[in-house]
Amino acid sequence: MTTQWVCCNINSMGQEKNIAEVWNNALQDLQKQVSDSTFSTWILPLEPQYFDENCFVLHTGQAFAVNLLRNNHYPEMLKAVKHATGKNLEVKIIFDEELAKKISKKAKNKPAAPEEADIQSKLNYDSLTQMQSSNLNLKYKFENFVVGSNNKLAYVAAQTVAKNPGTKYNPLYIYGGPGLGKTHLMQAIGHYIIKNRTDLKVLFITAEEFVNDVVNALARGDEKTKKMNKFRKKYREVDILLIDDIQFIAGKARTEEEVFNTFNTLHGAGKQIVVTSDRTPKEIPSLSERLVSRFEWGLMADIQVPDIETRMAILHNLARDTNIEVPNNIIEFLAATYANNIRELEGAFNRVTAYASINEMPLTIENVKKIINYNEKEKSYTFDGIVDEVASYYNISTKEIKGSGRNAKVSEARQVSIYLCRELTKQSFPAIGEFFEKKHTTILYSYDKIKEDIVINKSLAHSIECIINQICK
Ligand code: ADP
Ligand code: MG
Repeated sequence: MTTQWVCCNINSMGQEKNIAEVWNNALQDLQKQVSDSTFSTWILPLEPQYFDENCFVLHTGQAFAVNLLRNNHYPEMLKAVKHATGKNLEVKIIFDEELAKKISKKAKNKPAAPEEADIQSKLNYDSLTQMQSSNLNLKYKFENFVVGSNNKLAYVAAQTVAKNPGTKYNPLYIYGGPGLGKTHLMQAIGHYIIKNRTDLKVLFITAEEFVNDVVNALARGDEKTKKMNKFRKKYREVDILLIDDIQFIAGKARTEEEVFNTFNTLHGAGKQIVVTSDRTPKEIPSLSERLVSRFEWGLMADIQVPDIETRMAILHNLARDTNIEVPNNIIEFLAATYANNIRELEGAFNRVTAYASINEMPLTIENVKKIINYNEKEKSYTFDGIVDEVASYYNISTKEIKGSGRNAKVSEARQVSIYLCRELTKQSFPAIGEFFEKKHTTILYSYDKIKEDIVINKSLAHSIECIINQICK
């Protein structure tokens, strides 16, 4: 990819303007809006490419600048570009490999300048290059992770692993529902090690990328042995291997075998392995027994849905980083609306702040509802809400559902509640077990039973449909 500046676009006044000049004006605005370190580290190195009627395109050589700027400074960037061009343009920040190469070459030839050295969590150029090769996202650090009772165990375990890699909790297996911070916590371990142990090599990879690597290495051709050796070298010469969303490898026999061999080599050499998944190893269908047992060797820590205070604390942190005044009632409203998934919560927050700031709209509940397309029907499902509806459908009390009575009606209502809690909230089975105060096996049994019965039992299927309709009403 080349990085020439493409000049001369028509601005709203009908005049031709050089993109460098436009960007310079935007920079002057931005410098006033963000901290000095953010400005000099992430914004100043951006290279403007072109702009048209719809968007303004910037290139960066720092992969993590893309998310960092989008998540934390997007409203300021939109505003500055609007000011400089006179238009509401979308700002696109694109990672440019050529630029990245230039940066790391420069870094090898020249030590970091003093003011660059203490920028943003004391990154130095060595760790910057390391970070690029490790695939980590700069936002996913311990410093940005809000600890609540839902993630305390996983957080403490991740810190222990980060401080003593390869010695305790190996592997560390983090599991839980989508958008609850598994990837964040796993990458935080990587960042911590890169910063504090420059002698160690960290590699973060999604299981999906791992599968692709196996497939490529196994592709037919003369290079097969060479490719396989390269593959093995890549994974077996690291000190910390972080594999995200391991459930993805289930049922892929060759990949499972490579994970197994990689695991044995690394573990045997005292290297740290961290794995995340949306469920426990046993719950991954068709995962080989030998991998299940390996994953259970170390520590398994689950992350559950955060309570409302933790969700609000996460939003307060985001608000602080964006320098936008977000009233408390808005934070509370968003935290109450998005109960089960922090990714969605953050997405809504970013949409709201960006939209309100570009359109200079006051942040009222009314406006926020419009921005997030709030629909009372789509509010998040909670375990309590689900059990309430099931209890009312079966005409029994919630206490009976959560109790241990075995009469047929109560048992069915309990199993249906468990089934719906899993289906509607996508929470982990252990989290559901904790809510119902039931053993893991009971929860799994109930879920599977309803899932199977629903196919053959029309009346049960109808009941469940009615309950869902009530819940969504
Ligand atoms: P998962 O891997 O479990 O699907 P992620 O780690 O990708 O979830 O988290 C989704 C988003 O929510 C990320 O932007 C992450 O930074 C944020 N997030 C999750 N948990 C926390 C937390 N405890 N504190 C701050 N941000 C969090
Ligand atoms: Mg993830």
